[in-house]
Amino acid sequence: MPDPERLSRLVNELSSDPRYVSGQKRFPLAVSDGEAVAIAEALSEEFEEGVTQRAAQAARQGLSIHCHAGCTACCNVLVSCYLPESLRIAAFLNQPEQAEVKAAFLAAYPAWKQRAGSAPEQAMTAFASGQQATYDAIHLAHFRQALPCAFLADGRCSIYPVRPLGCRNAHALDTAEHCVADPPGGKPPQAVELIPVSRLLQRATQLFHAVHNAKSRERHGQKSVCVAVYELLTRPPRR
Ligand code: SF4
Ligand code: SF4
Repeated sequence: MPDPERLSRLVNELSSDPRYVSGQKRFPLAVSDGEAVAIAEALSEEFEEGVTQRAAQAARQGLSIHCHAGCTACCNVLVSCYLPESLRIAAFLNQPEQAEVKAAFLAAYPAWKQRAGSAPEQAMTAFASGQQATYDAIHLAHFRQALPCAFLADGRCSIYPVRPLGCRNAHALDTAEHCVADPPGGKPPQAVELIPVSRLLQRATQLFHAVHNAKSRERHGQKSVCVAVYELLTRPPRR
């Protein structure tokens, strides 16, 4: 369990200079895997509170959020995450009580990756180099494949407690009809905008980027959640 005081100092330092986020300046302190996981956990909890407030606001406006267990069309999206989030998922799966979930993911991944092809890597390269149109095209082509995330098992997210912020943020009003690659009328799902939640997502993204840059010299700040976690689970043990 990371020391809370050091964790708080790390977060303050990581947030103190935008160049830690952009990667233009090397962060001077070491950030351990455990600290990265703790940062992801804290941000995820904060985000979850925001999501609850967003649902409450929708209810006050007489709107209803359609999302419920077993509603999974959005799990066909090429979901990406940042290093602290993938480390958190890997740590979750490495717990002895998650052995079955981990084994199911490791068994499902090769077929998922074969069907996904190089789209996850191409999408993240396009994203990292700011080629938004290319990223959108790859994303849409993947979505049209209707290939469920390799963490989806029996119609449920097998890593629900530690799923990435992207999955926590996805929601739709009234119907899941528009949660598909080619929605009726070309209209995306209707969503509720709550400014504190959007700001929180932006802050979390920046902090995740800064942690990524502090821990890795790899340029990509984001990876497909399936690819990132598979790589972490199958990497050789560190000495
Ligand atoms: S975002 Fe759409 S597909 Fe996903 S849970 Fe909500 S209603 Fe269902
Ligand atoms: S991580 Fe879970 S919620 Fe997110 S896309 Fe995969 S199965 Fe769906």
